[in-house]
Amino acid sequence: MFDFEGAEYLEDWSTEEILSWAWRNFGSYAQVGTSFQGAGLVMLHISARLGFRFPVFTIDTGFLFPETLELKKRLEDFLSVEIESLYPDYSPEEQETVFGKKLWEHEPDFCCSLRKVVPLQSRLKQVKCWITGLRREQSDTRSSISMLEVYEVDPGVDIAKLSPMANWSREAVWDYIRQHKIPYNPLHDAGYRSIGCWPCTSKTPTGGVERAGRWTGFKKSECGIHTFMERKQ
Ligand code: SF4
Repeated sequence: MFDFEGAEYLEDWSTEEILSWAWRNFGSYAQVGTSFQGAGLVMLHISARLGFRFPVFTIDTGFLFPETLELKKRLEDFLSVEIESLYPDYSPEEQETVFGKKLWEHEPDFCCSLRKVVPLQSRLKQVKCWITGLRREQSDTRSSISMLEVYEVDPGVDIAKLSPMANWSREAVWDYIRQHKIPYNPLHDAGYRSIGCWPCTSKTPTGGVERAGRWTGFKKSECGIHTFMERKQ
């Protein structure tokens, strides 16, 4: 059972209060995972502003847009933070040799598992708290997330998953980004509201939910990093 003082109140706390709680309880055993969507940028900025030096990582699948890789460098300079890249076991070329060309076109779940879930799983085994930028508004699959969830990352080993941005609207996120002049992915200005790997990301259709431009043509809206573990609490 996960038992930290104040955990029962998290749902009603502000993003600042939740991040402060994570820093007090876990220090650098709490790590921020980001794919540089808007909410992640806000959360990184708030953490830096308040002096919470959480280690930060991103998963570099080898299929990120050049704009995303460039943004990583810009953010590191802007926030004075190092963002560690986690890599899959297979390079894109090795994956093609072993599993065939364009794996994402015929087995996107397996491709996501190789390139995102496996590297993340290794990292989560080393931390006690995973801080994400998930928001409830992003998609139906995210509409009921809690600020604090507990998962079993290994048999008998629990990890806290925090989503301190869960109740932020898209408008509030972008107001904050503009107000603080935070660097962001220029693809957002070109009609991409959610940005992942280039083979599986298209412009968001008019009227679609934020993640409607991901895995177009497949019944898939999650890569698996938020669904592969069993939730305990
Ligand atoms: S988003 Fe596409 S390219 Fe990226 S890991 Fe998943 S299936 Fe592969």
